[in-house]
Amino acid sequence: MTVQKLACQACKGEVRVPELSMAERETIALLRTTETPRAIDAIMTLTGWSLQDSKRLALHLTTARGMCQGCRGALSERMGRCGHCGSVNIDWLPDTPA
Ligand SMILES: [Zn+2]
Ligand SMILES: [Zn+2]
Repeated sequence: MTVQKLACQACKGEVRVPELSMAERETIALLRTTETPRAIDAIMTLTGWSLQDSKRLALHLTTARGMCQGCRGALSERMGRCGHCGSVNIDWLPDTPA
């Protein structure tokens, strides 16, 4: 599995981003908006990663399009660091809400 690594300036952690299918990414993103523990479980199941790595990824997923999960500032791209707080943001949300 290809893994992308992003350094977060807000929590000083390294966020690992697995290469998953769009359906898998969207499922995880939607779980994250309501039940973060279930999103973490889904990541662990799909990747076989530790709780720590899975949780770190889950916490950096955005819960609303274009809004930083850290400072709630506006984001300019779907994956990258927030220009306001330096937090890593990964937007896996579907284009049309389910
Ligand atoms: Zn962070
Ligand atoms: Zn931010």
